Amino acid sequence: MTDPVASSEIRVPHSAFLTDTFGRRHNNLRISVTDRCNLRCTYCMPEDVTFLDRSELLTFEEITQFVKVAATLGVDKVRLTGGEPLMRKGLHKLVRMIAEVPGIADIGLTTNGLLLAEQAAELYDAGLRRLNVSLDTLDPGRFRELSRRDGLDRVLAGLETAKRAGFAPIKVNAVAIRGYAELDVVPLARYCRENGFEMRFIEYMPIGAEVWERDKVFFAQEILDLIGREVCPLNSTKSDHTAPAVDYEYSDACGRVGVIASVSRPFCQQCNRLRLTADGKVRNCLFALDEADAKALLRSGGPVGAALADMIRRSVWEKWEGHAFNTAQFVKPDRTMHAIGG
Ligand code: SAM
Ligand code: SF4
Repeated sequence: MTDPVASSEIRVPHSAFLTDTFGRRHNNLRISVTDRCNLRCTYCMPEDVTFLDRSELLTFEEITQFVKVAATLGVDKVRLTGGEPLMRKGLHKLVRMIAEVPGIADIGLTTNGLLLAEQAAELYDAGLRRLNVSLDTLDPGRFRELSRRDGLDRVLAGLETAKRAGFAPIKVNAVAIRGYAELDVVPLARYCRENGFEMRFIEYMPIGAEVWERDKVFFAQEILDLIGREVCPLNSTKSDHTAPAVDYEYSDACGRVGVIASVSRPFCQQCNRLRLTADGKVRNCLFALDEADAKALLRSGGPVGAALADMIRRSVWEKWEGHAFNTAQFVKPDRTMHAIGG
């Protein structure tokens, strides 16, 4: 590390990589392409919501410009999310633009799957391979209760189409909320085993519109115990230590299950993620209270590469050690999950 930059009171080293003061190297960028959504999941967003004006959203060109700068700082992994990313018209064009950025080796998409059947082929042709589809239940009534909308059939059709199109891996993500997960964990795990999808359970986090309590979390260990007992025994695997999910393999080798234990086993120490919101704000943590305004820079006219690189470096350098939602110090961010990008 040489040549510290002192553009404000904190001196940020000009490292070749995006490193923070805890030595974590950041190579993983999550980009929200819209805050709009065709569902209203209770754990994610309020029913009554005002979406950003379209002029507030970064254009595909602005997003790509951001990715180009981030790639020069060591970012090689990008995930598109939202809101519901497939509601952003022509998303496959953005996938293609990002796939062409030198240094980007891996592009993924997290979607609720409602529009996947229509878009799977063009996304695949654009170079997308990694897909996470959020699905909390196979029961139409509970689907409606959790997402405040209908659409289970469309999600299942989307998964089918994506499988036929050749996507791999396809991961199915479910938020584990006590009172629901007890009924849904086993059917979801079986469905994924039968269809060759990797099942992922995410502990319910305090980032939605509803009042969160620790008691509402159905914990990773409870999920693993239930699956091991009712579906098939599980063996631990060597997981990627920077990935938030801890993966397990069925003892009959018929698939894998992952748990993201954000509440019971926070993975902040290994966090390598950086976020860009749909309205162009850089966030160094899902739970960050501060943001940096990349959109203002991108729209300021003239070359912005060096200033944007400094902004990204500074944001990462100032990252805190970790979220504190297991403590009384926790402060919930103003934005709910749909407006940050999960
Ligand atoms: N609409 C897309 C979807 O649902 O996949 C992408 C955006 S969504 C915000 C990304 C992920 O965040 C989804 O898997 C969703 O289940 C998860 N999520 C939303 N609110 C959550 C919460 N309070 N706790 C844990 N995960 C949450
Ligand atoms: Fe929409 Fe995804 Fe949030 Fe559900 S979790 S409301 S699908 S953004």
